[in-house]
Amino acid sequence: MTKHAYLNYASTTPVNQDVLNTYVDVSQKYFGYITTNKSCNTLYEQSKDVLLKLVNAKNHKVIYTSGATEANNLIIRSYSTNFSSKKHFITTCYEHPSMMSCFEALEELGHTVTYLKVDNLGRVILSDVLAQIKPNTVLISIMHINNEIGVKNDVEAIFKEVKAFDKKIVTMCDNVQGFGKVKNLDLTNIDVMSLSSHKIYGPKACGCLIIKDTIKLDPQITGGSLELGSRGGMQSLPAQISFVKAAKMILTDLEKNMITINNLKQYLLDQLVELDFVVINCKSDIGVVSCKIDSMMLGESLVTYFADYNIEISTKSACSSKTNMPSYVLSNIGLSNDDIAKTIRISISHLTTKDELDYFVSILKTLKK
Ligand code: PMP
Repeated sequence: MTKHAYLNYASTTPVNQDVLNTYVDVSQKYFGYITTNKSCNTLYEQSKDVLLKLVNAKNHKVIYTSGATEANNLIIRSYSTNFSSKKHFITTCYEHPSMMSCFEALEELGHTVTYLKVDNLGRVILSDVLAQIKPNTVLISIMHINNEIGVKNDVEAIFKEVKAFDKKIVTMCDNVQGFGKVKNLDLTNIDVMSLSSHKIYGPKACGCLIIKDTIKLDPQITGGSLELGSRGGMQSLPAQISFVKAAKMILTDLEKNMITINNLKQYLLDQLVELDFVVINCKSDIGVVSCKIDSMMLGESLVTYFADYNIEISTKSACSSKTNMPSYVLSNIGLSNDDIAKTIRISISHLTTKDELDYFVSILKTLKK
């Protein structure tokens, strides 16, 4: 049998079989338009209620999108037109490109953005956030878990302080990498949260914003007033229903999966520390391991080398892997360009086997100079 190892779960996950069955079932039985077909509409509304209950949201609504990229764009780009005067935004230096690109667009319109640095463990520092707030700060966006290094920010504590300082500031959290992997976030002080289905064994190209009822969104996809007037474009009821099913399943198994993943990660780390040409970049809070490989190979050629052995790993986020720029995430945690070029990201899940990890390590050993 061909040996293989899929070690890229932070990038995407396979759809769960039960989730897929739901997708097929809904596609066949509920194919009508959500807005005009009563039974489709009922199913759709129920799924939103289920999702809100799952995340324990009290004053929020669900806006389904084509994924977290769209969700992030929808909230941040809404600020392009919602203000007559120039506003100030705070975010981190290592958000996902779907956030960074929107903040850059706001800067081009004359708004100002503060990109918070992180400490040497890769975490946002609470006092830095508070120190940067200005009288015209309207939104602070901090990701829960970084996709390249797996480091978790204490967004609950940070946003509690932000709200105590000024409750009008909108607090936003990209929770794509945290949801279903670590304990659910308490949304008391979080106004907006983005989620993605394909990171939690749901179908691809589905996600949502969980957003406070009172916050207005400016549609970025126009031509049809769907999702409470927030977007146009055909809604995928099968994807939405099965996304919520995937969310329910991942939360049900959360504690069990966390233990499995931690054990597997430790199993891998124990082997990596034995290798003198491998250095772990930083401690991660999920199944992500970011490490430098001191070999003859650099960057994407490392990915290709492993791919030739049917091993899938990555260097940085899939969304930025086609750019030749060194990872800004790794650069912001203090890595030199040389070290960034040597870095790979391994991401494991509860589905990972020790055989896969052993196989990966056996191929990794062939890279020693
Ligand atoms: N934010 C983070 C932290 C991510 O890791 C990703 C996916 N790589 C996204 C946003 C974008 O999600 P999607 O693929 O659903 O557009």
